[in-house]
Amino acid sequence: MICSRCKRRPAVYFRRVSGEKLCKECFIKSVEQTVFRTLRLYKLSRNEKFLLAVSGGKDSTALLTILPRIERKYSSEIIAVTIIEGHPESFRENALKYIKLLCKKMNIIHKVVTFKEHYGYTLSELWERALNRNIRLMPCTICGVLRRKMINEIAKEENATRIVTGHNLDDEAQTIIMNVLRGDDIRLLRLGAEALGLIKYEGFVPRIKPLRYVPEREVALYCYFKKLPLPENICPFVEYSMRKSIREYLYKLEKKNPSIKYNIVKCFDRLSMKMVSYLKKKSLSPCIKCGYPTSRKICRACEILEKLS
Ligand code: SF4
Ligand code: ZN
Repeated sequence: MICSRCKRRPAVYFRRVSGEKLCKECFIKSVEQTVFRTLRLYKLSRNEKFLLAVSGGKDSTALLTILPRIERKYSSEIIAVTIIEGHPESFRENALKYIKLLCKKMNIIHKVVTFKEHYGYTLSELWERALNRNIRLMPCTICGVLRRKMINEIAKEENATRIVTGHNLDDEAQTIIMNVLRGDDIRLLRLGAEALGLIKYEGFVPRIKPLRYVPEREVALYCYFKKLPLPENICPFVEYSMRKSIREYLYKLEKKNPSIKYNIVKCFDRLSMKMVSYLKKKSLSPCIKCGYPTSRKICRACEILEKLS
């Protein structure tokens, strides 16, 4: 089987969605091309300062190796940040040694910040409180809301112009479905407008998602071909997440229709473009407790902390 692109080297990967057979080199190139094409959405300027959220998983690891090339192109700066939420079984801490090594190799400044220092509690402590007080809050809700706010605050402290996250095509398709199932239309629309760089909110450092159109499987394969070792890193709370069920469901559907995740994300992108003027009317105001932009009086993070402290 010969590579459909270079027509020389043996193919090692069959991309079901396009029917292409790719050799290792053409595969790596095609992933990087997708990333660079995605970055055009964000109209990056010179002298950007990127704050890359690094969890130690395959997505942020792949970005750690691709971003320095963008850095050179835009004469920009990168800083990597790892948030230690404080899971049971030291889940994040286990990957830390490896992240530090990789950042050192890539010559990228790396910072480690913890929920405990920032909020006064670890994620495990907050979750235990929710259980003891019979408060219906899932670990992923607490983790996601507090992590997002914390990254924004760190980015502001660091004067970063963009927050870079490693969300891939699978993550995006899952998040879209999750917001539909929750009936959260405004959050859903904001997700699209933000991911496409269509809207900017006072108080939020704009986010960019270079891997948004790369399927999770291809990110993993990219890391494998680039010989990037990936630590075993499964969150002990994953069992509680709605994302896990949606992920498994989409995998099943994908077997019958390989373009299912692309269809969800691309269709959502088209809708987001049409809805952006509607969204612009739904302005955010600062949380009365902390100043973080929110559509409510008190932001979700303050609400969670108030319930659990
Ligand atoms: Fe946080 Fe949930 Fe992800 Fe674990 S699975 S890191 S608790 S969002
Ligand atoms: Zn090839």
